[in-house]
Amino acid sequence: MKQNRILGFGVAAAMIGILSAGAATAQEQRFVSIGTGGVTGVYYPVGGAICRLMNQNRRETGIRCSVESTGGSVFNVNAIKGGDLEFGVVQSDVQYNAYNGEANFADGGAHENLRSVFSLHAEPLTVVARQDADVSDFDDLKGKRVNIGNPGSGQRALMDILIAEKGWSNSDFALAAELAPTEQASALCDNNIDAFAYTVGHPAGAIEEATTTCDSVIVPVEGEVVDKLVEENPYYFKAVIPGGMYRGTDQDVNTFGVGATLVSSADVPEDVVYGLVKAVFDNFEDFKSLHPALANLTPEQMVSQGNSAPLHPGAEKYYNEQGWLN
Ligand code: GLU
Repeated sequence: MKQNRILGFGVAAAMIGILSAGAATAQEQRFVSIGTGGVTGVYYPVGGAICRLMNQNRRETGIRCSVESTGGSVFNVNAIKGGDLEFGVVQSDVQYNAYNGEANFADGGAHENLRSVFSLHAEPLTVVARQDADVSDFDDLKGKRVNIGNPGSGQRALMDILIAEKGWSNSDFALAAELAPTEQASALCDNNIDAFAYTVGHPAGAIEEATTTCDSVIVPVEGEVVDKLVEENPYYFKAVIPGGMYRGTDQDVNTFGVGATLVSSADVPEDVVYGLVKAVFDNFEDFKSLHPALANLTPEQMVSQGNSAPLHPGAEKYYNEQGWLN
């Protein structure tokens, strides 16, 4: 219900006021949504963790947070731009390109109102192949049936760039499927695709599903093109998917990746973003325990890395109070 969202909350608040006259907190109730990704990814449970902490303070703040499963990073920044979401989890490369109007955002122009809140976990580009598909690294994907990701997802944005940098096109694959993250494990195990590429934190439900339902392996993504991308762009870095994390992959796997970040809009009021940031950092040990991909985060790194759009003033206020921006 869009009218319940923060920018149009007056009507909803008035209705609630009539229904529960006398309850001061209900009259001030405001609703915010965090756009995430597929339910078997990491964004969705992380968004749920943030909302859970935020909703613990509902009586004082009057803000109710809900989490939405979406098509992913690119969808989320566009929905924030359109005022349909207050927050979104997005890849650091997507944040950079959206704010600067580059890559797949060149046509739509720079999203100047995009604001960063903090960064989150690392998201290595994770290529999972059927064991019988004869794929031992990224280059072996040529001629195979590959899920390159649904339009609107961060993995699709990254794959489009990597494929172009390699001088390939989608017709170099026997099939370039556009499946959503929740569909890719069953497509792999039903032998409808040979491999899929997913930019995701670890451990992720979708990768667990793909590696336990059938025999599959995670393969490396490295070489000259990757070295060049990492060297030329601040938001890419080399990454390792630890051996032993998933069935079938006992050795560390070299790849590269991006960081997950939380973004908002300059149109979202300062107290709302402050409320979110305060809920997370005042309860930081709880927050880190809500998903294993969050276990190693530190406030210093979340405030200083991967945030290429300007910080939202509500976030800046809290970080200044903590002395984290000096
Ligand atoms: N990185 C993916 C995207 O931007 C989502 C991963 C996840 O849902 O955890 O679309």
